[in-house]
Amino acid sequence: MTVVHFDLPDELVELQASVRRLAQDKVAPRAREIDSTGEYPKDIFEAFRDAGLLGLCLPESVGGSGAGILGLTVAIEEVAKYSQTAALMLLLTRLPTGPVMMAGSEAQQQRYLTGIAEGTQRAGFGLSEPQAGSDVMGMRTRAVPDPANPDSWVLNGTKCWMSGVVQADWYTVFAKTQDPSSRAHDSITAFIVERSWEGVSVGRTDHKMGVRGVDTGELVLEDVHVPAENVIGEVGGFRLAMLGLNAMRPIVAARGIGLAEGALMYATEYVKGRQAFGATIADFQGIQWEIAKCAVDIEAARLLTYRAATLADEGKFTKEYVPFLSMAKYHATELAVRASGLAVQLLGAAGYMEDHPTELWYRDAKQLTIVEGTSQVQLGLIARGVLNGDLWWD
Ligand SMILES: Cc1cc2nc3c(=O)[nH]c(=O)nc-3n(C[C@H](O)[C@H](O)[C@H](O)COP(=O)(O)OP(=O)(O)OC[C@H]3O[C@@H](n4cnc5c(N)ncnc54)[C@H](O)[C@@H]3O)c2cc1C
Repeated sequence: MTVVHFDLPDELVELQASVRRLAQDKVAPRAREIDSTGEYPKDIFEAFRDAGLLGLCLPESVGGSGAGILGLTVAIEEVAKYSQTAALMLLLTRLPTGPVMMAGSEAQQQRYLTGIAEGTQRAGFGLSEPQAGSDVMGMRTRAVPDPANPDSWVLNGTKCWMSGVVQADWYTVFAKTQDPSSRAHDSITAFIVERSWEGVSVGRTDHKMGVRGVDTGELVLEDVHVPAENVIGEVGGFRLAMLGLNAMRPIVAARGIGLAEGALMYATEYVKGRQAFGATIADFQGIQWEIAKCAVDIEAARLLTYRAATLADEGKFTKEYVPFLSMAKYHATELAVRASGLAVQLLGAAGYMEDHPTELWYRDAKQLTIVEGTSQVQLGLIARGVLNGDLWWD
């Protein structure tokens, strides 16, 4: 008989409790200030470093703690109750490092992942371009063999909307290594590019609706010479981008469920104390049903997300598992938008003002349905799974 366990293992329950304390002590009091100044919260990065959270999902061989995607998911859920910016900082320990973990050489792993785990380096992920977001095959960044050196490539192009672009020390960058108009998957290759190299610069940074404090912006590559040893995996290994993003779905989802939990808990406390019509707002059935529906959605999203994280940790992020990974991302991030909207509504005018965190959550939530594959892209992937029978119930 197969037994399905829904409890987290003891070590993750402990992790959850310690990150919860850290989030309440160090992250929650800073969330509003980070949003209003837009300044990178170095203190929170240091708190994560000191707590050993920057290497959570990295292997022990590079100084990480090997807690995997489920470990990072649990940690991000706690932090995202209070700050999407802080949650993004943890997410960025996995997004650019994923391809290096999956296909990078031993030398690349030691050189680039060790610094992430110990908090001496940060990284960014360069896939999107102005004309190529969902349609990544439309990218124009180009890598050509260096005519003067057979062991080197020359990269030119501009990546955009890159999270953490200003703070990063190195970038995972995808570029066309064949005819730029090619839409063949093996026309794209992944490279590690260091910030300090000649020709690498940060272009414009974006003025964002939310998740301020970690910049997004352009990475400009002008005749950047990249040694062949910095190709991740093989030339034409675009599959890495897709596999990397598949494995990331539960981690983005964790940002959504954490935000929804934070918003619903905050709004629930508020309605319990708010008097109207001789009762509290929480006494009205119409309000109770909204709270109940949101609670159902949160628990459903958690189950989807923990399952997706478990699959990813088992190496199950190839095509047949895509629907299960995508539905966690889709459901949890759409939930974040709904839950933060509900929280604003339950607080009324107060919820719309900066006196409460609800308006911040509302602004922060929206980016989650756009980043790392929009909701429409996730729905397309889920539908494809059903249509081709990967997701079928008999
Ligand atoms: C805050 C933030 C941080 C980001 N960080 C990074 C990062 O670190 N690295 C990086 O590489 N990128 C990053 N991105 C970019 C992000 O990955 C893209 O925005 C995303 O992939 C969508 O691309 P797009 O914005 O060009 O939208 P488009 O692809 O232009 O889509 C526009 C709309 O059309 C819909 N659409 C597109 N194709 C289809 C289709 N086939 N069927 C139905 N609907 C469709 C989309 O769902 C969307 O609603 C970030 C974006 C944001 C907002």
